[in-house]
Amino acid sequence: MTNKTEISSLGEFKLIDHLTENFELKHESSKFGIGDDAAVLDFSNNKTVVTTDMLVEGIHFDLSYTPLIHLGYKSVAVNISDLYAMNATPQQITVSIAVSKRFSVEELDLFYEGIKLACDNYNVDLVGGDTTSSLTGFCISITAIGMAKEEEICYRNTAKPNELICVSGDLGAAYAGLQLLEREKRVFADNPKVQPDLEGYEYILERQLKPEARKDIFELFKSKNWIPSSMIDISDGLSSEVMHLCEKSGLGCQIFEDKIPVDYQTHKMAEELNMNSTIFALNGGEDYELLFTFPLDMHDELKECKGIKIIGHTCDISKGRQLVTRDNNEIELKAQGWKL
Ligand code: ADP
Ligand code: MG
Repeated sequence: MTNKTEISSLGEFKLIDHLTENFELKHESSKFGIGDDAAVLDFSNNKTVVTTDMLVEGIHFDLSYTPLIHLGYKSVAVNISDLYAMNATPQQITVSIAVSKRFSVEELDLFYEGIKLACDNYNVDLVGGDTTSSLTGFCISITAIGMAKEEEICYRNTAKPNELICVSGDLGAAYAGLQLLEREKRVFADNPKVQPDLEGYEYILERQLKPEARKDIFELFKSKNWIPSSMIDISDGLSSEVMHLCEKSGLGCQIFEDKIPVDYQTHKMAEELNMNSTIFALNGGEDYELLFTFPLDMHDELKECKGIKIIGHTCDISKGRQLVTRDNNEIELKAQGWKL
């Protein structure tokens, strides 16, 4: 980066004005956005759905290989994913950041460029936030607000026995991308002359660095007038999300290993690391895919949908929660600590 304007040269108020000047309000529900003590929202007859996520440098992201523009985009996308998991339409976000002196105005500009891209893509208004300093790292807290009719909202605790368990997209790719980035970081630390070798792995890198929330699946449900009987987004790996959904709904389940969607690049990365790609899918995390249930009679219609895979079914709690492996063994599902 050529220019490095110190944050202190602008001061807090000018900085906020500068970072937020390109954001316009798109929604009727955003009555007042940035510029007073609080934003004012109006959802008339709809319910308001609210979710927050916090991201801490060194814990949730590593700036040595994460471009700030992608980080801005991802910070919004992971919150929007939680709204889609409730079957709510995203409306507003607030963005709070803590930054140290080590960051320049230009770097924050890149972060906000990513935020703006996500606001445009997911059609949400930036209506507020907070800006403060930190001693060392970068911290981000984003709140996303959505709206839904009461009868449209999808909870985790409303799945029924003998329903289809489905997922969108493919799983384990973001974790595979993270493994690759961490490996190349170690190689670079040992020998800075070696250029990172990332060719052929573009998809898993994108899944790690610039994930998308499944707007398309949310819109597909809307267009078909389908409401899943329960839904959750996959942020901590398939295994723990299936467990959450079944625990909250008081059910057992069977998940079939050979039905779990895994991309070719994820397989390839797992193979290179002498690992099983099913483990990536079960325990990896950061997929931001949707996991949902539908009644059995939806089977044929769901099978026709691109981007949706039926991976198992719910059952009575007395039957337990199992993964049926490729060689037909039944393994008790666990939230973590997987071995096949
Ligand atoms: P207060 O002193 O009431 O916390 P601020 O001076 O922090 O107010 O914020 C002024 C306005 O700018 C408010 O509307 C606030 O929501 C908004 N704002 C502050 N920081 C950010 C940020 N990082 N991103 C977006 N909006 C922000
Ligand atoms: Mg403030």
